[in-house]
Amino acid sequence: MRDLEFPLFKTKIENSPKFDLTDVKDRQKYFELKVGEEIKKLREYLKENTFIVYLLGKKNSGKGTYAKMFKEIVDKDRVEHFSIGDMIREVDKELKDGEKKKELINFLEKNYRGFIPLKDIIDSLEDRSTSKLLPSELILVLAKREIAKKERKAIFIDGFLRELDQVSYSLFFRDLIDYRQDPDIFVLIDVPEAVIDERIKNRVVCPLCQTSRSLKLLPTKKVEYDQKEKRVHLICDNSECKGARMVAKEGDELGIELIKERLKTDENLIKQAFSLYGIPKVLLRNSMPKDKTKEFVDDYEITPEYSYGWDGKNRKVKIIEKPWQILDDNKVTCYSLMPPPVVVSLIKQIVEALNLT
Ligand SMILES: [Zn+2]
Repeated sequence: MRDLEFPLFKTKIENSPKFDLTDVKDRQKYFELKVGEEIKKLREYLKENTFIVYLLGKKNSGKGTYAKMFKEIVDKDRVEHFSIGDMIREVDKELKDGEKKKELINFLEKNYRGFIPLKDIIDSLEDRSTSKLLPSELILVLAKREIAKKERKAIFIDGFLRELDQVSYSLFFRDLIDYRQDPDIFVLIDVPEAVIDERIKNRVVCPLCQTSRSLKLLPTKKVEYDQKEKRVHLICDNSECKGARMVAKEGDELGIELIKERLKTDENLIKQAFSLYGIPKVLLRNSMPKDKTKEFVDDYEITPEYSYGWDGKNRKVKIIEKPWQILDDNKVTCYSLMPPPVVVSLIKQIVEALNLT
């Protein structure tokens, strides 16, 4: 991120065996080796206690991925993840169900405090074709309802609120922090815009099952070469899709071009959260300057990039793998990290924030 220094985090261990971090079993062994002690402490803590994490990162920064991996590794039953965006979509569904709609309105009548009449809010919720702005007081009360539902669990709130301006944003946190009698933690994620850009440009989707993959960063098992087009296509791994070719979505070739403004707002909000006092902050970075990687990370923790060629003689696609290199927002040459080392850093820093050391 420009003008904001996120510290480098060392996950390298001398003589570490090589792990395949895309494999669930291997990944468990990896976490056992690198943060086994910390995971034990967290599980012990979660038997009697909880915490609330606010995840703050730019759009497409991988917030959900990190939170879900934390849950998978630490405690599936006592950790929850919810995104404000999904929450609003759930509310849309409730409004279509007569019984649930009544309950929702009942709840809002008791709990909503704001300047816009409740009736107008319900109307604008029901007519979201125009993607009208939702008042921050409404989002706040809905977030509280969601938190109350998960009373005995640690929660990761995937928190950027596109709708909020900067003033409502700080009000939002001021109101939510200390809402529950357990520690609050900010998790700020720094992902270079070049990473977000490439993720968007290279993503392909199965037209049948909507699974999303990436030609360059996350290929499927089967890659097909088209002789006429002189290029490769990913074939969906899902057997029900019977060899469907994955395709790019229109507009994705523009990368971050279409969300530039959004990314700028996100960055300002992260900086604002960074300067909020009185709440512990976990700082995560997804990239590592190339000249520091030998010292700080193991080779298998670096994201590989894939490129393809056609071996005409053997009629086979050649797959070339090498470390994915990008320029970060300060134009430093970096490697991008796989999600697991970022989650190692997350686990260690949360243990510290909770004083479990
Ligand atoms: Zn499919």
